[in-house]
Amino acid sequence: MSKKLTSRTEDYSKWYNELVVKADLAENSAVRGCMVIKPYGYAIWEKMQAELDRMFKETGHQNAYFPLFVPKSLFEAEEKNAEGFAKECAIVTHYRLQADPDKPGKLRVDPEAKLEEELIVRPTSEAIIWNTYRNWIQSYRDLPILINQWANVVRWEMRTRLFLRTAEFLWQEGHTAHATKAEAIAEARLMNNVYATFAENFMAIPVVQGVKTESERFAGADETFCIEALMQDGKALQAGTSHFLGQNFAKAFDVKFANKEGKQDYVWATSWGVSTRLMGALIMTHSDDNGLVLPPSLAPNQVVIVPIYKSDEEFAAVSEVANGILKDLRVKGVTVKFDDRDTQRPGAKFAQHELQGVPLRIAIGPKDLENGTVELARRDTLTKSVVALNDLTSTVENLLKEIQDTLFKKALDFRDNHITEVNSFEEFKDVLEKKTGFISAHWDGSNETEEKIKELTKATIRCIPLEMKPEEGVCVYSGKPSKGRVLFAKAY
Ligand code: AMP
Repeated sequence: MSKKLTSRTEDYSKWYNELVVKADLAENSAVRGCMVIKPYGYAIWEKMQAELDRMFKETGHQNAYFPLFVPKSLFEAEEKNAEGFAKECAIVTHYRLQADPDKPGKLRVDPEAKLEEELIVRPTSEAIIWNTYRNWIQSYRDLPILINQWANVVRWEMRTRLFLRTAEFLWQEGHTAHATKAEAIAEARLMNNVYATFAENFMAIPVVQGVKTESERFAGADETFCIEALMQDGKALQAGTSHFLGQNFAKAFDVKFANKEGKQDYVWATSWGVSTRLMGALIMTHSDDNGLVLPPSLAPNQVVIVPIYKSDEEFAAVSEVANGILKDLRVKGVTVKFDDRDTQRPGAKFAQHELQGVPLRIAIGPKDLENGTVELARRDTLTKSVVALNDLTSTVENLLKEIQDTLFKKALDFRDNHITEVNSFEEFKDVLEKKTGFISAHWDGSNETEEKIKELTKATIRCIPLEMKPEEGVCVYSGKPSKGRVLFAKAY
C-alpha cells in the first residue's frame, strides 16, 4: 500500500494532487494540461451527471449535441465573446498529414490540405448553437428552446490543476432561447438555483449564490449568476455559472422571431454550465489527511464488505453472510460491494477504501459469525461500532443519511466561520493575512476599485450575494458610498 498523504496543514496543494492520484481519480496525461479521468473518478462524475441530468429534465430541458468545431467566422460573430475566449483557443488549420520526405518515419502537415476556413475547437458553444437556432426559430410558437448538451470543451489554460482547471474539461452547457427578457432572466436564475440545490443537497457543499461584477462576467453576457464555494484552505471556488445573455447572440446571428403581435424581435438567451471542476470542489470540501471523504449520494460504493478469514471454510461461511447483507442492502437501494479479492489482505483493503472515501465499511470475521454481529466503520468520523446483523440494514440506511447531513453541516459551519466582515482596508489586509475565507466588505461599485484591490491583495470579488442585505456604508478602499456588502476572497 502506498504511503500516507502529505497532510493538509503541511502543504495543501501537494495533499490535493497526491489525493487525486492515490485515490485513483485522475492523472496527468501526455498532453499538457489534459487529464485522464480514471474509472473510480469517472464513476463519481457519472453520479453527478445522472443527478444533474435528472434535474435538468425535471425543469423542462432536453439533451442535444452540437459539433466540436466552430468555423472561425461564426466564432467571431459575437465580438465580446470572441474577444474573451480568443486567448485560450485551439485552432485546426489542416486536415491531413503526409510522410515527411526529409525525415524518414515522420509525418508532416500536408501543405495541400489547408482548410479554407480555420476551425476553432469549442471553448464554449454559443456561436455554433445560435447559428443553428436561427433556422429553428421563426415565431413565438417555436419558443422557448430549452436545450442542454454534455460535452468536452477546450480552453488553452496556462496554469492547470487536475479537475480544477484543465485545458480540456467535461461539462454540460445549457443554451436556451426565449421570447421575453423576463423569461430569460427567470431561466438563468432558475438554473443557478438548480446548481445551488445540487451542490448543497447532493454534494453536501454549501454555496453562496450571487451575481458577478462586470469584470468577472462571462464574455458576451449581460449578467452572470454563480455559485461560490469555500474550500478547506480558505480559498473560494467558482462552482457553477448561469448567464443571462440578453439579445447579444441573437443580434450576432440574426435570430429573430415574430412575436404575438406579429412584430419581428430578437430572441433572448441564456447559457449555464458546470464542469469536472466540481470533482475538485468535492475533494477540497470534505476530504481529510487520510484521503477522500465522499457524501453517500456521490459514492460509487456507499458500503463495502471486507471478509476476514484464514481458511477456505471460514471464507465460505463469511461469504454466505456477506451475500445476504448484499442482497438486503441492494433491495433498499444502497450501492454495496463485496470486496472478496484474495490478492489483498484485509488491512490493505481497509486502507484503500479509506483512501477512496467509501462512506461505510463492514468487516465480517469468524467471531462475528458466532456473535451474529458485524463491525461497521464510518469514513467521515473514522469511528467503529459493533452492530447486530438483524439491525444492520436499518442502521446502514440511517447512517448514510446521517453522514450526508453531517458532512454538509460541517462544511457549512466551516464556511460560516470563515466569512469575516471588515470595515477598513487595514482590516481587510489584516484578515487576509491571518485568516483566509470570504471577506464581506463595502465596495463602491467601480471597476477601478475592484482592480486596485485585486492588485494589492490578490483577492477578487467572488460575487454580489443574491441575499445581500441593503446596508448604507462606505467602500473599504475608496471611502465612496456603497449600498451593500460584497464577498471578496482569494480564489482558485
Ligand atoms: P464559464 O463558461 O466560463 O461560465 O464556465 C462554466 C463552468 O466551467 C464554471 O462552472 C467554471 O467554473 C467551469 N470552468 C471554467 N474553466 C474551467 C477549466 N479550465 N477547467 C475546469 N472547469 C472550468
